Amino acid sequence: MGRTWWKDVPVPREFRCARCGELVRVGRRDDRRTRFCSSACEREFWRHRDRYGGEAGPWADGGEREERRGNATNRERRRRIDDAMVMLDAVKEVVEQVQMEEEEAYGNLSENLQRSARGEAIQEASDALCGAAWAIEEALDCLRGASGEE
Ligand SMILES: [Zn+2]
Repeated sequence: MGRTWWKDVPVPREFRCARCGELVRVGRRDDRRTRFCSSACEREFWRHRDRYGGEAGPWADGGEREERRGNATNRERRRRIDDAMVMLDAVKEVVEQVQMEEEEAYGNLSENLQRSARGEAIQEASDALCGAAWAIEEALDCLRGASGEE
C-alpha cells in the first residue's frame, strides 16, 4: 500500500456521523472513516446534502462543490477497491498456505509413494494452487491500477 493520505488521521479517534449523528469510535488504523458511520450514511448525505445541517457547506461556489462531491464518491469507490484487495490478499494467503502444506505432504512421502498416483495427485494440486495464487496476484495488480496505486 503506497498511499499515505489516510495514515495521518489520528487513531484512536471519535467523531459524530455527519448524517445520523451517531458517535463513531475508531480504534483501527485501517478504518478510514472520518466523517460518516457507514458508506450508506455517506451516500445519503451527499445525495441530499441540503437536508442535513442546512449550511451551505465549507465551500462556496457550486463548481467546487461538484468537484468535492466527485472526489468523495471517487474516494468511496477507491475504498471499496481497497476492501476488495484486502479480501483477495486473505484468499491468496489461504491458497499459499495450503500449497505449502501440499508441498510438505509430498516431501514427507517415500520416493516410491512420490512416484505413485497419490504423489502425482499431490503435485497436481500443488501446481494448481500455485496457478491460483499467481492469478490472484494478477488480479491484485489490476486492482492496484484501478485504485490509483502504481
Ligand atoms: Zn451515520
